[in-house]
Amino acid sequence: MTFFDFHHHKENKAHGIYNLDYEKIPPNYLYSIGIHPKDIQPKNIDDQLNWLKSNIKETCFAIGECGLDSFVEIDQKTQEDVFLKQIKIANEVKKPMVIHCVRKFYEVISLNKHAEQPMIIHGFNKKQNIADDLLKNNFYLSFGKAVLYNLSLQNVLKTIPLNRMFLETDNEDFNIGELYQKVSELKQISLKQLNEQILENLQTIKNG
Ligand SMILES: [Zn+2]
Repeated sequence: MTFFDFHHHKENKAHGIYNLDYEKIPPNYLYSIGIHPKDIQPKNIDDQLNWLKSNIKETCFAIGECGLDSFVEIDQKTQEDVFLKQIKIANEVKKPMVIHCVRKFYEVISLNKHAEQPMIIHGFNKKQNIADDLLKNNFYLSFGKAVLYNLSLQNVLKTIPLNRMFLETDNEDFNIGELYQKVSELKQISLKQLNEQILENLQTIKNG
């Protein structure tokens, strides 16, 4: 069985969504494209957004990763401004958004009100109450390597509806099959069912 990797940074990896780095050339397989908070150049934002818009090619699946990060040097106002502009682009091109969020969940929830397309929080590894608030606000959650060893995150994952989750390697080097195996145990379903559910979720977010 091949397993879909919702968010990764490995060129030429089949069956997943490759996150294109800033100023790279879009590939002919599924990718996401966005301005990560750490890549924002405050004096150059219009050019950056033009790069984004002009590189939304046929195999572009999503806008992102983009969002808010409280550990990045760029001031919050600028981050929110660039994030909101990307939300508007996603609305125009009707593509879901892959969200990077570090300690800014309530600001992201508030900005979600401007979004017409689904938002997926990638690399989710926070507490139950944050997961609940995100679900209440129609977010999807994508889980990565931390699920393999973080027991409290495993308990959170048990409560996440199967039709609201994705699985990813991000920039970690491990076999995504291990993660699918772990999640199928936690959710007490077969690997095949889990695999089919994730593909169905993919269709759902694709259709907005
Ligand atoms: Zn990433």
